[in-house]
Formats: sequence, structure tokens, C-alpha cells
Amino acid sequence: MYVSDHIDMAMEIMSHAYSVASDRNARTEEAYKLFSLTQSIGDERERQRSALLNWENMLMFAVAAQQDLTTLPRLSNSDFGLWYFHKACHAFEGAPEIATISRHIQQVDREWLAVLLHEDPSQRLQALSEIRDAARTVLMLLDDVLERASGLDAGRDSLTRLLNRKFLSVVLSREIEIARHSEHCFALLMVDIDHFKSINDTHGHDAGDSVLQQVASILDRSTRGGDYVFRMGGEEFLIVLVNTDHDGSRLFAERLRQSVAKEPMLAGADTLLNVTISVGVTLHDGHPDYHRSLQRADQALYQAKRSGRDRVVVQ
Ligand code: GH3
Ligand code: MG
Ligand code: MG
Repeated sequence: MYVSDHIDMAMEIMSHAYSVASDRNARTEEAYKLFSLTQSIGDERERQRSALLNWENMLMFAVAAQQDLTTLPRLSNSDFGLWYFHKACHAFEGAPEIATISRHIQQVDREWLAVLLHEDPSQRLQALSEIRDAARTVLMLLDDVLERASGLDAGRDSLTRLLNRKFLSVVLSREIEIARHSEHCFALLMVDIDHFKSINDTHGHDAGDSVLQQVASILDRSTRGGDYVFRMGGEEFLIVLVNTDHDGSRLFAERLRQSVAKEPMLAGADTLLNVTISVGVTLHDGHPDYHRSLQRADQALYQAKRSGRDRVVVQ
């Protein structure tokens, strides 16, 4: 009992030292980074929304008061337009909404403002309502772009929408802390698509990307609200399965393997593929250094690959 007590105490001191000293700084830094990124995008969204509405208000007032409209800035030169063309276009280059937003802004400036300036009054109402609609559409599309950027780009992988591995340490440190104070445990599942390179080689990189997205979506759908799914890189994923045990995690991994195997994946317009995964599972053993558990999960995955793929190995 004396020896056992001392071992317990040593474990406790080791755990404490780890969680307090080594991880806290990194953890708070990353969490803060994630938080501040989302914060500032949220602020920006509000600021730009009111800038666009301001411009619209100014225009409506000028029309109603029959002021000289030529003194008003065009939408592309308004506060909103300057922000959009100088910053947003650049920051969100490649987002599908960007081209549509630009087109709407240009259409307002070129077509509808011209109608307000030159044509007869009966057409003005029509132009005003077109401008209103365009502004609403721009706001809606912009919301979509910013929504993705705030929630996803900061912490998520852009192809699969899964969590970026840079937040792995934040998540695992927290889960280790929770496990220390509860009777529940968490499991790590290292998942790797089998023979993925040959999918790329045979059907092209785009088909490969599409398969990655479909597998990621199965992983995401199969997990519960408290679990985490990371893309570790390439065609490798990590699931942190919370509140589970040896049998629970094995059963989950086996069901996951079957779900992927039985769902035909779209690779190109009319190509369906059967894709399989190998899974390495390990239960967190209480040690404060999560790298040990990650290594065990990796070894289990390696065994699954070596023994033929399309299988689950628990270690
Ligand atoms: P194994 O069954 O042993 O896992 O074989 P594998 O072919 O799946 O594994 P390997 O590591 O040899 O190949 C992984 C390939 O994944 C190589 C790389 O070109 C491809 N890949 C990595 N990231 C991406 C990506 O984002 N998109 C696509 N399309 N391919 C990717
Ligand atoms: Mg692979
Ligand atoms: Mg791999």
C-alpha cells in the first residue's frame, strides 16, 4: 500500500506538472487565436453590413428629396465598395460567391444608377427596387462567405471542413483533463483511406478530392456531438471519441469501417468507386502526454495496413 500510494502520488504530480506547465500556454494562445479570429470577422461583418445599408439609405433619401444624385459616391466607391474591392475580394479570392457579388455591385453602378439619373420618373421606382434587391443579395452572399471564414477557415480544413490538426493539442489537453476527473475515458481512432494514391492516379486529383470529402462527411455524420474529427493531412484522419471504453470504441470503429465500405463514392460525373479505410484504435491510458496515445493509435493503424487493410486494429 505504501508503494502504491507513492506511485499514485508520483502520477498525480506528473499529471499536474504536464497540464499546468507545458500545455497551458500553448492552449490559451491557440484558443485565443481562434477566438480573436472569429471575433474580428464578426465585427467586420457588422461594420460592412451597416456601411452598405448606409449607402442605400443615403441614395433613397437623395431620390426622395430630389437632390443632385451625381454628388453621391457610386456603390463601388462607397465605404462598403472600397472595403469589398480592396480587402474582401483579395481575402476570399476563390470563394464561389465573390464573382456574383462583384457582378451585382457593378450592375448597380452601371445600370441602375444610370436609370435613376437619366430616365423618366416612372422607371425610377423600378431601379430603386432593383438596387434594394441587389443590396440584399450582396449581404446574403457576403454573410455566407464570412460565415465560412469565421467558423471554418480559422480552425477547419478547407477541403473537408474537418478540424485542422493545429487544434489537436488544445482538444486533447482538455480531454485528458476531463478524463482525469471522471470515470470515463476517451479513445483515439487513426483512420487512413486504403490505396488512395491509386484513386488519384487512375481517376485524377479532383476525383481524389471528391472521395476525401465524402469519406470526411461519413466520419462527421457517424460521430456524436461531443466527439472531434480532425484531418491530420492527406488522406489521414483522427477521431477523438469521448466517453467510451474498450468495447465501445472497437464497435464504433467497426461500424465506421463498414459505413465507408458499403457507400459507393462518386469520383467524377459517372464513376462510382468502392473505397475502404483502415483504422487504428487506442484508449487513452491516463498518461498526461497525449503523444504516447497518438503513437499507439499510429502503430495500430500500421498493423491494420500490414495485415491486409479494410480492418480495425485495437491496441
Ligand atoms: P495505403 O493503403 O498504404 O494508405 O496507401 P495510400 O495510397 O492510401 O497511401 P500513400 O501515402 O502512398 O498515398 C497517399 C496519397 O494521397 C498521396 C498523395 O498524393 C495523396 N493526397 C494527399 N493529400 C491529398 C489531397 O488533398 N487531395 C488529393 N486528391 N490527394 C491527396
Ligand atoms: Mg492511405
Ligand atoms: Mg496515409
